[in-house]
Amino acid sequence: SIMPAMLSAISNCARKGLLFKGGAHLENLSRVKVIAFDKTGTLTEGRPVVTDLVPYRAFTEEEVLQAAASLECLSTHPLARAVVDEARKRGVPLDRPDDFEALTSWGVQASLNGERWKVGKAGLMDPSFLLDAVVLRAQQLEAAGKTVVMVQNSAGIVGIIGLQDRIREQTKRAIEELRKVGIASAMITGDQRVTADAIAKEAGIDLVFSELLPEDKVNMVKQLKQTYGHVAMVGDGVNDAPALAVSSVGIAMGVAGSDAALETADLVLMNDDLLKIKEAVMLGRKMGVVVK
Ligand code: ADP
Ligand code: MG
Repeated sequence: SIMPAMLSAISNCARKGLLFKGGAHLENLSRVKVIAFDKTGTLTEGRPVVTDLVPYRAFTEEEVLQAAASLECLSTHPLARAVVDEARKRGVPLDRPDDFEALTSWGVQASLNGERWKVGKAGLMDPSFLLDAVVLRAQQLEAAGKTVVMVQNSAGIVGIIGLQDRIREQTKRAIEELRKVGIASAMITGDQRVTADAIAKEAGIDLVFSELLPEDKVNMVKQLKQTYGHVAMVGDGVNDAPALAVSSVGIAMGVAGSDAALETADLVLMNDDLLKIKEAVMLGRKMGVVVK
């Protein structure tokens, strides 16, 4: 009968650190043609570190870091934590901002000593502040797979910060193994195109979709489903939860995953081990044969 085969497959998965929230999900995973991955915290470790600090105008590295960290210490974004860690490491003192506002998928803004500041992606900055020198330097950092955070006050860009996030140890092999069993990989990320392309190349990802807001991630998963049928989505962030919900099989990172991602997912990877996805696919396929 169907039930014993399904149950044994699911308990088999649980022993391997794959927590399915029902048998139908294992069956759906066995039919998947494409798996979409979030970048930060999923394909990468999600612990970026500051590698570059480029001051502009009369600002020093420390002054750029002081302004950026003073705003970012009120944000919980991984990039924000990295900026604050760097300020701590260099002994840079922080100021207390007023009128702080976090702009999801863009960055943060606040007042410091009566001056208005913004810290975040280029699209958050005043377009007239984006001089060629700044844009070219940012692209150079992005081509190396780094994420760029820009810092502006009311007069212009005062500096840019480059941050590097390493890809997980298992990422490259996990993508390769999936390809061997006929499953293509896609990256869907809020990060800039050049950075995303560089990381995707390193990881061996087939399709790259970048500069996406959380609602764009949802539409992208829907589009992939229309084209390829069954599509799984793997993510860790609060901003990934809506995309996990519309995918054929939502997969959350068990350790790095936010509560929202864990709740929405159909499958939880207990040790954040991406290699386990292929194992689950193979178990699902085997079970399909038993059932038929
Ligand atoms: P991802 O899909 O890669 O997990 P997010 O949607 O969380 O990314 O953020 C997308 C982009 O928005 C980041 O790459 C960064 O450029 C910018 N961003 C978001 N929050 C912040 C912040 N607190 N400080 C600086 N930049 C930020
Ligand atoms: Mg993420």
